[in-house]
Amino acid sequence: MLELENIEGVGPKTKELLNKIKIYSVSDLLYYYPYRYDIIKRSDLSNLEDGDKIIIDGVIEGQPTIIYINKNLKKIIFRISNKIAVLNVTLYNKTYLYQDLKFGKEVTIIGKYNKLKNTIIATDIRFGILPPTAKIEPIYYTTSGLSVKQISKFITSILYDDYEVVDLVPRYLNEKYNLLSKKIAIQNIHNPVDILMLKKARQKIKYEELFMYVLKLNYLKRKISNDTNAIERVIDREKIDKFINNLPFKLTLDQSKAVNDIINDLSIKKRMNRLLQGDVGSGKTIIAFISIYANYLSKYQSALMAPTEILAKQHYEEAKKIFADYKMNIALLTSSTSSKDKKEIYDGLESGKINLVIGTHSLIQDGVSYKKLGLVITDEQHRFGVHQRDTFKNKGISPDILSMSATPIPRTYALTIYGDTDISSIKSKPIGRKEVITIFKKEKDITDVLVMMKKELDLNHQIYVVAPMIDGDEDDERESVNDLEEKMNKAFGKVCKIGIIHGKLDSKEKNKIMNNFENGKINILISTTVIEVGVNVPNASMIVIFDANMFGLSTLHQLRGRVGRSDIQSYCILVAKESLERLRLLEKTNDGFEISEYDFQVRGEGDLFGTRQSGELGLKMASVKKDFKMLLKAKEDADEFINMLFTFETNPEFEPIFTELKKIDSLD
Ligand code: ADP
Ligand code: MG
Repeated sequence: MLELENIEGVGPKTKELLNKIKIYSVSDLLYYYPYRYDIIKRSDLSNLEDGDKIIIDGVIEGQPTIIYINKNLKKIIFRISNKIAVLNVTLYNKTYLYQDLKFGKEVTIIGKYNKLKNTIIATDIRFGILPPTAKIEPIYYTTSGLSVKQISKFITSILYDDYEVVDLVPRYLNEKYNLLSKKIAIQNIHNPVDILMLKKARQKIKYEELFMYVLKLNYLKRKISNDTNAIERVIDREKIDKFINNLPFKLTLDQSKAVNDIINDLSIKKRMNRLLQGDVGSGKTIIAFISIYANYLSKYQSALMAPTEILAKQHYEEAKKIFADYKMNIALLTSSTSSKDKKEIYDGLESGKINLVIGTHSLIQDGVSYKKLGLVITDEQHRFGVHQRDTFKNKGISPDILSMSATPIPRTYALTIYGDTDISSIKSKPIGRKEVITIFKKEKDITDVLVMMKKELDLNHQIYVVAPMIDGDEDDERESVNDLEEKMNKAFGKVCKIGIIHGKLDSKEKNKIMNNFENGKINILISTTVIEVGVNVPNASMIVIFDANMFGLSTLHQLRGRVGRSDIQSYCILVAKESLERLRLLEKTNDGFEISEYDFQVRGEGDLFGTRQSGELGLKMASVKKDFKMLLKAKEDADEFINMLFTFETNPEFEPIFTELKKIDSLD
């Protein structure tokens, strides 16, 4: 195929601009899809209202005139006529066009219609008249210096060349849905013959993307479950039950089910790849510890990875407590671990002396290698990319993987994305929990909020106060941690201790403050969203979130999950300048599944699946949410096809599909 430089009009400068929008090759150019289309169609003059957008063609009558209004403002005025009407045209500033606007020339004018003056204020003038049927113009994202028209011209110039595009949709499926060939589809994406063809073209491209998306997810799953380095364990169920019976509480039904799922996965010689999803406060951590214990009994190492240092530290403290009576060797590894300690931990992991390591991303950094890593658990997995959890360096064996998430995916979507078998859901909360009561308050009613806070403090309960940022600007309307500290000090400084915590503090400082809050030495903790995930302080009974409208619902729900972690009645107070339907939903429901469903409907899938994942897996035109019906079909087809694919692995027809699938092996 051609190189970019071979395209007429692409010199070194233009090439650089194309690179800027990530076009490096002719094929990149072909796959650079428009994000929308303009429909160019002659306006029906009899139906036009004042101020309407108008597209009309005609012949220039008489000689156009330039009028100088002032130094910076000129206009060209002229008249055009066609079979139906005579219209005045005003064009501001583009005087360079004057040369070409000659009497008798055919032009198309795009602009705004002024009915009273029978004039068009033109925004664009093109030479020639309109085609008899509507013309559809693709609009591309671009960068300054490179016009949409140029991009379109470059693409059109190669569109009908002799090149091959790989059609990844198997022939029988193309036939089943009567899909366009890939090449015709690409041509019509960039240069649609008509609306119908554009629709069919988009259908083809989207279907191909979704089909491959499901295939890739299946492939990833298969790769893990067919891993011949998977571990087979004989697990002493009696010891596990004893461990569970020694816990200070009884597991909920859903927790017990999850434990069974996991123990089963760990036992068989098939690599575990399980998602444990459960609302905030549903008790996922203990499931992680039970799994770790089972893994420990079978003499393998475990790694527990958390997205923040605070959370890692907390899990570490918890683990030390829970495993106090067992001879488990536990280490904490984060970026603030001293290099001396790091060295020791690295050695311990390499030699197998450490049984359990808890930490942040540091767990997968260069230099960390494990002797016999059998289980990897990621907490709050939506914070990590698809592949990060799979980059543990471990010799010869493939660890089982348990991902935990408090951002539940609505059931129908989860089925599509993960399939049915590998999810354990904890729906019910531990018995005795009272639902968190959520109350919305307008900012002007802050006194009410302070009264509610006072009541909790009098009961010796603790409070989180959350602000969207650390420092406030004079003219920034949002509350900041520092502003709030001042306010809280005024209100409660005499009767209680107030602490602040945020991402800019160093981790020693953060730890100290978190410890003091856990020990009850701090009564009110003011913070940014650093406390969003995972933190567990059961005596905290209230969280007050300022400028709540600044946060997504899932984030607010996570924040709310910081309270209601014991049997005391807890409250979540949302403060904002004005009331919003979105925020009011949180007053009505505590159900994380319902909230994520709402978020999904209103905001799209971005938050749930992570844009990273859909991008990684090749969704450019199709969207999991908007094209959900098609996704369901594609899934049915792909699930059926995948068996055929692996049975006839050597069929040359499937080669391009394998090439595409293998690409995800090398991600990260
Ligand atoms: P999350 O699912 O949000 O990670 P945690 O694991 O932090 O929730 O659990 C929240 C709190 O509930 C912890 O204090 C934990 O000890 C407690 N907990 C977990 N399971 C139970 C249970 N079955 N009964 C009572 N308390 C429980
Ligand atoms: Mg948790």
